[in-house]
Amino acid sequence: MNNTKKCIGKDSFQRMNYLYQLSNQLATENQSAHIASVQYANLAVNISKKAVLRLDADLKNTICKSCRSLLLPGITCKVRIKKKRIIKHCLKCNHMKIFDTRNQDYVTWNQRSESLVELLDYSATQSENEESKKVKLEEMDISRNKM
Ligand SMILES: [Zn+2]
Repeated sequence: MNNTKKCIGKDSFQRMNYLYQLSNQLATENQSAHIASVQYANLAVNISKKAVLRLDADLKNTICKSCRSLLLPGITCKVRIKKKRIIKHCLKCNHMKIFDTRNQDYVTWNQRSESLVELLDYSATQSENEESKKVKLEEMDISRNKM
C-alpha cells in the first residue's frame, strides 16, 4: 500500500502559486496588462479565503490590501524608510502598507518553529523510480510475449 499522506488543499496551494507567478510576470513585463495582473492576484487571495488556507506572508506582503495590485518596488509601489518603519506606497491607489522594524527580536508566526506541524515530502526516491521502471519493463515483456 502507498503510505504517502495527502496534503490538505494541495491543489489550492498550487493554483494560488500559479496565479501569483502569473500576476507577477504580467506586472513586471507588461505595464498595459495591469488589470489582468490585479485580477490574478485577487483570484489568488479569494482562493485562500474560500479554501481557508493561509497565503504565505512573503506573498501576502506584496499584494496591496486595497486594490490587490502587486507591490513591486519601482514598478507599482515606492518604498521609503521613515523612523525605522518600511512604508510601501501603492502607486495605483495611494494605499500605504507599513512594516514596523523597531523590534528586532520579532519573528512572524510562520517563521517560528512551533508553526511547523508536519513536513510532507513528495519527491520520489530513486529506489521507487527504479522499481517502477522494472515493473514497466516486465509489463512490456509480457505484452510482447502475447503478440
Ligand atoms: Zn493599491
